[in-house]
Amino acid sequence: MTHPLDPYLRPETLPTPFCPGCGCGIVASAFLRAARELGHSDLSGFVFVSGIGCSSWIPSPHFKADSIHILHGRSIPTAMGVKAVRPELEVVVFGGDGDLASIGLGHLVHAARRNLEVLVIMVNNMVYGMTGGQLAPTTPRGAVTATSPYGNPESPIDMVRTLAAAGASYVARGCVAYPRHLEKLMLEALQASGFRFVEAVSTCTTHFQLMLGTKSPVEALKKLRELVEFRDVMQGPREGRLPLGSWRPPGRRPGFVESLRGLR
Ligand code: SF4
Repeated sequence: MTHPLDPYLRPETLPTPFCPGCGCGIVASAFLRAARELGHSDLSGFVFVSGIGCSSWIPSPHFKADSIHILHGRSIPTAMGVKAVRPELEVVVFGGDGDLASIGLGHLVHAARRNLEVLVIMVNNMVYGMTGGQLAPTTPRGAVTATSPYGNPESPIDMVRTLAAAGASYVARGCVAYPRHLEKLMLEALQASGFRFVEAVSTCTTHFQLMLGTKSPVEALKKLRELVEFRDVMQGPREGRLPLGSWRPPGRRPGFVESLRGLR
């Protein structure tokens, strides 16, 4: 029996190391289905870059493609180097909220400011999953985690609006509880140009038990649906619910590599 996504995956890496019910599989599937819909019969036109964290394992080693697994938080500078040297390739960064919105935040903001021609997919499970469920910059206010036993006293960062303000050409937020919508956002992002950012609100079934009180993957997906809603993403969170949708600025701004090459 074959699966439509078999041509994009390395069979020797399956089953994945993700915990049962982890949202990383849904994010991978949404991306690959979007690439397939755009007519990519394989991933030879892509280079994938990822840092450290559970979601950084999505492309490397699972995708049958060239990929770079780099230091924690340093996927963006690496992607910038790849794009500068091989501008004809579609460079895609996969990373978690811990990797991209914390240690890698400075790189990410400046990539948006430069309008670097890469697609960044941030899997936001609102916690540091791989290292034990610690508080992340995306953790909901009041949430109990391994390092906030009395509840998170901080408000989470809104990466969609942060990167839109920095100059991104396309920003979007989807959720693994709505996989078809997430796939549509990936499709839009792949068709757009310049710096593109897709946040995928996701599950960490292992640590959600402490943070959100969910005891199974199904419960975790149901809980996620209570934390998101479809409305204008630029309005930001409202009563603890994150808006799902996409936004792009009017007009077109030249990309970083495009400008760099034009200077020669
Ligand atoms: S720890 Fe969380 S994010 Fe990491 S693989 Fe397990 S469920 Fe997924």
